[in-house]
Amino acid sequence: MKHMVVMDGLKGSDIRPPALLSKFRELSIKESSNYFGNPARLVSIPCPACDSSVYLPVFVKNGFQYNRCSECASVFVSPRPTHEALVRYYNSSKAGKFRVDYFSRKTEESRRIHVLRSRVNWLGRIVDGVNNGGTGGFGDIGTNYPVIFDEVKKLDLFDGFYSIRPSPGMEGYIVNKKARVSQDNPTGLGALTAFEQLEHEYSPYDYIKDAYDMLSDNGVFFLTTRTISGFDLQVLWEKASYIFVPEHLNLLSIKGITKLFTRCGLDLMEISTPGQLDVELVLHAIKEDSSIKLPSFIDYILRSCSTETHNDLQQFLQRNRLSSHLRIAARKGGKND
Ligand SMILES: [Zn+2]
Repeated sequence: MKHMVVMDGLKGSDIRPPALLSKFRELSIKESSNYFGNPARLVSIPCPACDSSVYLPVFVKNGFQYNRCSECASVFVSPRPTHEALVRYYNSSKAGKFRVDYFSRKTEESRRIHVLRSRVNWLGRIVDGVNNGGTGGFGDIGTNYPVIFDEVKKLDLFDGFYSIRPSPGMEGYIVNKKARVSQDNPTGLGALTAFEQLEHEYSPYDYIKDAYDMLSDNGVFFLTTRTISGFDLQVLWEKASYIFVPEHLNLLSIKGITKLFTRCGLDLMEISTPGQLDVELVLHAIKEDSSIKLPSFIDYILRSCSTETHNDLQQFLQRNRLSSHLRIAARKGGKND
């Protein structure tokens, strides 16, 4: 199975303007307490990656219990809001509305340059390699970045474009890109993307099963998410300020997400952690929060070594699947049909 290393000088502030992220986090924490504060309405779940019921509490953040699976080491919120409560939150809360600004308008240009183009190139290379003849349609689940349709159309590989259950308020932007907004699941897709979605889904299993059903044989599912196996989350743990409810209910481990895709019948083609920001995120965190205590070796590397060493460390993390930004390409092989 492939994995990739990418270094192009990306900075966290390029894709997540700090003032916007801070406002988005504040709103999310405040409103999740209003929407989900009643413990009687939360439900306990087994591990969302491997389905094991054996797990231990590891920390409480903003009133929500995070646990670690004893089988696959995924970290997840349980008890958690129901699927229906999460849909209501994203449809009607101020934080849900703010997402539209946060993800699309004010970050559109930098996102487009730094991230989307490289993701779409990745998609094009893989789809070109697996499909013989017609590739069918292209779908993006939970569209946050409508510009993806401009980029995918340039590939000239697909005969239809669907935005499946986009973030509420995003519809107008999507129609402008001449893609179809669909609240149902289309079928026969040659490629399907879901960027930074899995972490806030009630059931990752149901989510990936739905993706399986939407793909044609040889269709490929492209997904990005954060993994708890990555450097910054392993080092910062609950002190990672950019992890908050309900945006981050599932922080699955590499082992857990591999099991999850296998359970859903998809064949993994690539599982990589091409993240470029782990070292920068930890450096930023220790500057902002003096209560964070790092293991002495990590502290020495970050505070006393050169930028060149930091870059080397980040490349080491990428090569060894130890960055927290995970990307996956998985193919529907037709064996479960
Ligand atoms: Zn597990």
